[in-house]
Amino acid sequence: QLNGSITIVVLGASGDLAKKKTFPSLFGLYRNGFLPKETRIIGYARTKMDRDEFVKRTTEHMKLGESPDAKKKLDEFLKLTSYHNGQYNEDASWEDLARYVEKIEGDTKQKNRLFYVALPPSVFLDVASGVRKHVYSDGFVNRIVIEKPFGKDLESSRELGTNIAKLFKEDEIYRIDHYLGKEMVKNLMTLRFANVLFGQIWDSKNIDNVQITFKEPFGTEGRGGYFDEFGIIRDVMQNHLLQVLSLVAMERPTGTDAESIRDEKVKVLRCIEPIKLENALLGQYVGNGEKPGYKEDDSLKNKNTNCPTFAALVAYIHNERWEGVPFIMKAGKALNEPKVEIRIQFRNVSGDLFKDTPRNELVLRIQPSEAVYMKFNNKHPGLSYQTLQSDLDLTYHRRYSDLKIPDAYEALILDVLRGDHSNFVRDDELDAAWKIFTPILHEIEQKQVQPKEYKYGSRGPADLDDFVRKFGYDRSGAQNYEWPVKNVS
Ligand code: NAP
Ligand code: NAP
Repeated sequence: QLNGSITIVVLGASGDLAKKKTFPSLFGLYRNGFLPKETRIIGYARTKMDRDEFVKRTTEHMKLGESPDAKKKLDEFLKLTSYHNGQYNEDASWEDLARYVEKIEGDTKQKNRLFYVALPPSVFLDVASGVRKHVYSDGFVNRIVIEKPFGKDLESSRELGTNIAKLFKEDEIYRIDHYLGKEMVKNLMTLRFANVLFGQIWDSKNIDNVQITFKEPFGTEGRGGYFDEFGIIRDVMQNHLLQVLSLVAMERPTGTDAESIRDEKVKVLRCIEPIKLENALLGQYVGNGEKPGYKEDDSLKNKNTNCPTFAALVAYIHNERWEGVPFIMKAGKALNEPKVEIRIQFRNVSGDLFKDTPRNELVLRIQPSEAVYMKFNNKHPGLSYQTLQSDLDLTYHRRYSDLKIPDAYEALILDVLRGDHSNFVRDDELDAAWKIFTPILHEIEQKQVQPKEYKYGSRGPADLDDFVRKFGYDRSGAQNYEWPVKNVS
């Protein structure tokens, strides 16, 4: 479709996302030979920067590694790039950018364009309309990549969606949820649908509960002003964790093409009833003597904020496969460890021949250090007949030599170049996701629900363990389970 030629315009090129993710990912793709033959990359923002400053900023987060070839590749890559400054809300600036793009494209016949919007939501619509009016390439391929937040609730998301739809066709829009670019999340489809053994046990008859957990070991650290507007539910759960949930729970798609997959995701999301406040536990971290509490973040305007920095929410899917199975989503900042995982806990064995047999668990660790492991019961080796909880383990770093997992953004930008929407959020999917979360978000705000305090560096509010137990999670086998490999995990 692209016929080997593309101009990539990074809007907001002076910002954090551009320097940490967009440019390093473009370089990663170039280095591995994945950018189209004729690629031009133009950075655009208001900040005035000379070439040296632009290069300094965009290369700051690039990992060159040990390869002697890397520096050469970087120099080649930088030759594809340039920077142009201008405003976001003036026709004259957009006309100027259009002329600049034309100049850079020279006499190329294929004027395909990719617009990567790395800008705050407040300027997003101005930018999308400036681009559409002045820089859109008529008769060629145009793609626009946009970043969360996609609204703050169902109404604002719909308003944003309606306005974007006036400018770009749905197949030109790529809504990034970078969790969909993560290796283990992409592996969910393979694990479920390429293994007959998982396919057979993936239902309420065999599965007791599912936990999808996101843990960060640091707090807002100066970004509380931004975070306070959103809170952990909007920041992580309505998007990333719900995307993971939909891939765990959806039915088998009829094909691996984008629309077949997204059709199934939308279908399962529509079976989820809005999350109820009684099925929620909210928390906010306080200082631990060493690290400050959330309310002590200098960037916070409202020092009495009730904004949750931790939440555990339970969703139920009303369909034949999942009726009655709690999907427990947990997410929090300033916790004891960095971890994102899916933990599927199976039901008790019938009859309990061996007495108090712990439940099987299938764990997919998304980060850090990708792994899939199954906790299962084994006879104690030797003369004993005692039952012992053990594991079938696939730790990626040990199993795959020369493992190189690309950054999620690298994988996703490649999908955009290939025109593959599978790992991007469709408009109706977004709508269905907001329907699940909007009522509880509004209720929390209207009722000014007080979050429970938890200490920076703890596992979350003290009520957490009772909460997950109430929804079925049984940890009774844990005291006898040991993971011996200290250096991996
Ligand atoms: P950012 O650094 O705050 O802003 C990017 C650029 O936008 C700035 O360099 C600035 O460029 C311009 N800008 C900032 N505030 C503006 C304002 N009020 N009005 C007009 N222009 C403004 O943002 P970011 O962290 O890169 O994030 C960009 C988008 O990606 C956001 O939607 C964010 O939610 C999303 N995102 C970011 C990350 C991340 O890791 N940073 C991760 C996921 C999603 P000029 O002043 O030079 O024009
Ligand atoms: P685990 O660390 O025991 O956690 C299992 C569940 O119990 C999680 O939902 C966790 O909640 C909760 N939990 C943890 N500590 C608790 C506590 N003190 N009280 C109550 N609930 C608690 O996980 P595991 O799967 O049994 O693994 C045990 C250890 O072995 C982990 O360090 C794991 O990384 C390691 N392991 C590694 C591999 C591998 O690298 N391939 C394979 C198997 C096991 P939260 O998540 O909310 O804290």
